[in-house]
Amino acid sequence: MAAEPLTLRQALLESRTQLASCSDSPAVDAEWLWSHALHRSRSWLLTHPEWPLTPAEQARGESLICRRQDGHSVAHLCGECEFLDFSVRLTSQVLAPRPETELLVEQALHGLPHRARVLEWGTGSGVLALAIARARPDCQILALDHSRAAVKLAQSNALRLRLKNVRFVRADWRHPWPEGTFDLILGNPPYVALHDSHLQSPGVCQEPRSALVTPARGTQTIRVLAAQARRHAHRRTRLLLEHGANQGDVCRKIVRRAGWGRAKTLLDLAGLPRVCLASLQHHRLGR
Ligand code: GLN
Repeated sequence: MAAEPLTLRQALLESRTQLASCSDSPAVDAEWLWSHALHRSRSWLLTHPEWPLTPAEQARGESLICRRQDGHSVAHLCGECEFLDFSVRLTSQVLAPRPETELLVEQALHGLPHRARVLEWGTGSGVLALAIARARPDCQILALDHSRAAVKLAQSNALRLRLKNVRFVRADWRHPWPEGTFDLILGNPPYVALHDSHLQSPGVCQEPRSALVTPARGTQTIRVLAAQARRHAHRRTRLLLEHGANQGDVCRKIVRRAGWGRAKTLLDLAGLPRVCLASLQHHRLGR
């Protein structure tokens, strides 16, 4: 006699146990992954605990759980991720957007002038540029990335969201930027040091190193960006850079040395130093 098919309830329970050692949120991860395997919503999953899995569904679900155990993020396994009030497609060639990066968007939108020109460096999946473009259709956003795959993905995300005021262009960070000045320059550059143990963490260990790591104890890219951005700034330009939780002081120093008159550090929702805000004039930074 053929074995009874596994029910969804059993699969969820088993997966939760399997993920307990590699995830802070094993139950939620299991729900997302099984919902992806079954092409059903999470709420459908929870209302159909007795659903008998077909062999194909079971194989898809179990393979996702195995890959999660190998350190892939749930966002990458599902190929999609929510950020603020929208979602974007993801591939293994870009970072999964982090919740702390929402602070950059909040600050970017704060006091952004009408019809502003915005430049984002290192856009990855495009979330930052897309969030600004959605909130401010009057502004023009130019977003750069050194990875061809990232630019292609960001373009397709813009297309899905039907955004016409954002342009994604491939550009190496060492090369000059497109001509002109910008009202806002922002970026979430690589800022992790080469041997940081954070790189071994589940979720992070399978992400592209080039989007995470930079020499000089994680500050080289910030240095280059601060200097490049200074050349494309006018009197009222604001610079916003995400950095590591232990890089607040060094980041302000770097930015000031690059010729930005004033720099201050902003805290993320967890209360950690996360973003450096700089301008050429003192009064532009507010309180
Ligand atoms: N905050 C990211 C992390 O936790 C690092 C992102 C970056 O280097 N830009 O992995």
